[in-house]
Amino acid sequence: MNKRGHVLNAVLLSIGLGYVLDPSGDVSTFATIAEVFLPVVLGALFPDVDTAFGRHRKTLHNLPVLLVFVAHPIYHGGNLQWVWLGVLTHYVLDMFGSRRGIALFYPFWDEEFGFPSGVTTSSEYAEVVTVVITALELAGVAVLVYVLPQYLPPGITRLLAENTALIA
Ligand SMILES: [Zn+2]
Repeated sequence: MNKRGHVLNAVLLSIGLGYVLDPSGDVSTFATIAEVFLPVVLGALFPDVDTAFGRHRKTLHNLPVLLVFVAHPIYHGGNLQWVWLGVLTHYVLDMFGSRRGIALFYPFWDEEFGFPSGVTTSSEYAEVVTVVITALELAGVAVLVYVLPQYLPPGITRLLAENTALIA
């Protein structure tokens, strides 16, 4: 996906996330959107830095890089929160929304993984695909937040809540 697609995805995801995490629709919803907006957009722009150095769709498009972004706010406190989500949504959009996949296990394995749902980045359907994928991501987040916890053992739910509080 191109930069425009990644920004569209990150902006819509941030707004949707505000409503999923805080459905009241009042000032606190907008505060949540304001909180996640910048880090998610910045995170979504980050992986394509590897168009300028290294190998595109490999060097910064892999799980070890995502792990660094997930781990940073956990180990270093209130810094760079939510940037990991921008990086993750970039990977999801590249894998499901564009023809070429990404090298998830780089540098250990060069193979690029993608899904046949993708279109070329110049396709006239690229934006429609981006919006559909964003809607599916938000549905996934809503399931995680509202549906899944009641089917998990209380210990795991507590552990998840504690870790989400660390990240959120
Ligand atoms: Zn990319």
